[in-house]
Amino acid sequence: MRFLYVLRRLCSMDRAVDLNRSVTYDKKYTAVQVGSHCGSFCDGPQCKYRHTAVHFFEELGCQNRPFVQDLFHFPAQGTTTKSLLKILQYQCFCITLRQIQDDMNAQRLDIRHRVALELAHHLQKSINREHPLRQLFWECTLRCNVHCRHCGSDCKQLAGMKDMPREDFLRVLDSVASKCDPHKVFVIITGGEPLLRDDLEIVGREIYDRGFPWGMVTNGLLLTPERFDALRHAGLHSLTISLDGLEADHNWLRGHKESFQRASRAIDTILQHPQIAFDVVTCVNQRNFSHLTEIRDFLIGKGLKNWRLFTIFPVGRAANDPELQLSNVQFRQLLNFIKQTRKESRIHAAFGCEGYFGNYEGDVRDQFFHCQAGITVGSVMADGAIAACASIRADYHQGNIYEDDFMEVWENRYLPHRNRLWMKKGDCADCKHWRYCQGNAMHLRDQDGNLILCHLKRLTEHH
Ligand code: SF4
Ligand code: SF4
Repeated sequence: MRFLYVLRRLCSMDRAVDLNRSVTYDKKYTAVQVGSHCGSFCDGPQCKYRHTAVHFFEELGCQNRPFVQDLFHFPAQGTTTKSLLKILQYQCFCITLRQIQDDMNAQRLDIRHRVALELAHHLQKSINREHPLRQLFWECTLRCNVHCRHCGSDCKQLAGMKDMPREDFLRVLDSVASKCDPHKVFVIITGGEPLLRDDLEIVGREIYDRGFPWGMVTNGLLLTPERFDALRHAGLHSLTISLDGLEADHNWLRGHKESFQRASRAIDTILQHPQIAFDVVTCVNQRNFSHLTEIRDFLIGKGLKNWRLFTIFPVGRAANDPELQLSNVQFRQLLNFIKQTRKESRIHAAFGCEGYFGNYEGDVRDQFFHCQAGITVGSVMADGAIAACASIRADYHQGNIYEDDFMEVWENRYLPHRNRLWMKKGDCADCKHWRYCQGNAMHLRDQDGNLILCHLKRLTEHH
């Protein structure tokens, strides 16, 4: 009875529920979610369903629609709401048990993961020793044409800093080509917004002629079919476009009223050329979290094959913006969503490179976690700084192309990136996962080297 009381309280937040009403729903927008987050309604001291509240939405009219995940029951069409409550009552107990078990197991690796992570660990040790440069990012401009709410970079619409002259970056490539096989080093042009540079086709052709494959990360606003063709003829090999939700959510995050429409058009243009390696990247936040299924279907409907998702890391102004950050429970739901999407195989979904996930390793992206910054990934920043990855604090820059030879720096510096024992402090000091995690992503270290976020811990917390 208390269970029904909790449900009624939840439902009555929006409107009274007719318990004899038939449930009709579509799998896509299912009527029921069995969640793991109690929210405010079951905080009462007498509520024994704490953390395992059952959320009704859509069909029952709850305005606070939670995310559809952890769902494991699809009642038949026409089931009455009353029978549904009974089913859920039973499931609620199952979930409680499952959740307790999950919590106990979350930090303990199962045998499958232990073996796989051990193999990956040995492989990674030899990669660390050899540190072959495989990806080289070039921050070609700080100018940008949108106002992203989460932007942590120094970009401004009219950035004071001039774009790096292309000759300066091409000299870096000559240094790289003197020591590496250029065909094995992927050059990725980022910004700011790279398409604001009008010499991109010239740079692209120069990169291509030196034997490097090259690609670009863009918001797609300026990617007209004509510009895309020009870039293709300059040897463009890969593209990543940001799409952070359906129209309202994407435009909100990007701060530009046409950004969705234009990014969407750019996606259509690129998809007509399957020889271009292409993915869409989505920043998951509070606004788009409950629409992930719709975004996925939208992208599948367009014919997209590869979809990358990430969350905003909690530093700077993004850390204090509640609309940008997911709760720990939502984060776990996001990983479940990706895992499920991968199983369905209609689109290849993957989480971004950050974060060690314990028993989720191998299930939410193609490779096991290891932050490759300074090991296989290097960057040249807009001011010439030689960095490992654009997301890492400037404290960890290793030199500057205006003073140092890039390859000399690559071969002889980057010690903090290649030996991360200095990160073994705080929570990491006696962590049983250190061997496989090595202190998490390097961009998640503050100015004193302290850990900002442990994803594994996040996966076991209930808020
Ligand atoms: S620092 Fe972060 S973003 Fe950069 S390579 Fe490592 S995990 Fe990826
Ligand atoms: S970040 Fe540190 S505490 Fe967290 S799993 Fe990795 S090594 Fe352990």
